[in-house]
Amino acid sequence: MKKPIDPAAGTLAVWAGEEDRVRHATQVPVFHSVAFGYRELDQWLEVAPGRQPGHIYSRNTNPTVQVFEEKVRRLEGAEAATSAASGMAVISAALFGLLKPGDRVVSVRDTYGGTHQIFTEFLPRFGIQVALCDTTDHEAIEAEIAGGYTLLYLESPTNPTCKVVDLARLASAAKSAGAVCVVDNTFATPINQNPLELGADLVLHSATKYLGGHADALGGVICGRGDLIRTIFHFREINGAALDPMAAYLLLRGMKTLHLRVRQQNANALVVARFLEKHPAVDQVFYPGLESHPGHGIARRQMRGFGGMLSFILLDNRLEAVGRFLARLRYAHAAANLGAVETIVGPPATTSHVECTAEERAAMGIPEGLIRYSTGIEDPEDLVADLERALEA
Ligand SMILES: *Cc1c(COP(=O)(O)O)cnc(C)c1O
Repeated sequence: MKKPIDPAAGTLAVWAGEEDRVRHATQVPVFHSVAFGYRELDQWLEVAPGRQPGHIYSRNTNPTVQVFEEKVRRLEGAEAATSAASGMAVISAALFGLLKPGDRVVSVRDTYGGTHQIFTEFLPRFGIQVALCDTTDHEAIEAEIAGGYTLLYLESPTNPTCKVVDLARLASAAKSAGAVCVVDNTFATPINQNPLELGADLVLHSATKYLGGHADALGGVICGRGDLIRTIFHFREINGAALDPMAAYLLLRGMKTLHLRVRQQNANALVVARFLEKHPAVDQVFYPGLESHPGHGIARRQMRGFGGMLSFILLDNRLEAVGRFLARLRYAHAAANLGAVETIVGPPATTSHVECTAEERAAMGIPEGLIRYSTGIEDPEDLVADLERALEA
């Protein structure tokens, strides 16, 4: 297992970005201010083009939002960071900000449903080619990367079947081809995995999930090389999908316990996965922490913990059986979300891949009877007892 970045992630989750004490407040204030005023024109003229630090207009930058970006930047060990109104807004800003007609994207079939939709529906409209490879076929991905200027877009573990991609290997292939390597680290969180340490150029999160952790705020954040972040920020400030200061505050508040939550979720997911693996009513379990998982070896090398997400297929994998099972769970929201303090369940047709048609899901190898299980921070005995009861039917 890899060592955590220095200072330890728990200390960073609590303190990073919070050095500036506004009127001695120990907590970060929510700056509900659209604009920031300057009596001195000279000073305004310095701040506006960014020659001096400061804020002008909250679509561009906002002090509460900036603290959130700084905390994630430190946790990912990055040079720079910028944010957006949601995970999809930050993914869109990265792709539309960095790419132009004639460019190529290489990615995998198992990316988040919304991202997959950008690859298949929107980028091709602008003359950007997208090659989607079998997620665990590293040779095929390397062959595509060698084919010309490319942005390599990865996710690991993937949604919803928890496949593991060798980030160091593919980031190195991207580097030798002069490509930019972007990793969606939402499932792993900076507590379990730091893609920049493994050679990626950019790492992004749907902060809506684990970073916030309380299912009460949408947000997205991307960190990495300063030159790339400046380009993405510039697109995002003009595109306008800025992170709201109240959402930034909720995400910051959630992040103070990120390391505690993720530690508990890692432990809970392993207990639940081991229980399901032995249960006669369960056909298959996908969790990178299981020795039986094909990506377990890579996960051990690149992750410090295996995460709180798992998925499984019931022996009776018809949607009616899935529906009956979900209705019997007491300690799980059946909802299209993940990474919260409460356990959350759902099939891909209503969660990760709601944007895709049944045919598209089938083509991506996502069974309709799959159940995605995002472990919360409950006591693991209760989660297991709850699953046992629901599986009796
Ligand atoms: C949810 C999610 C996104 C999209 O984030 P939003 O905040 O919902 O826009 C992107 N990637 C992954 C892996 C996700 O789980």
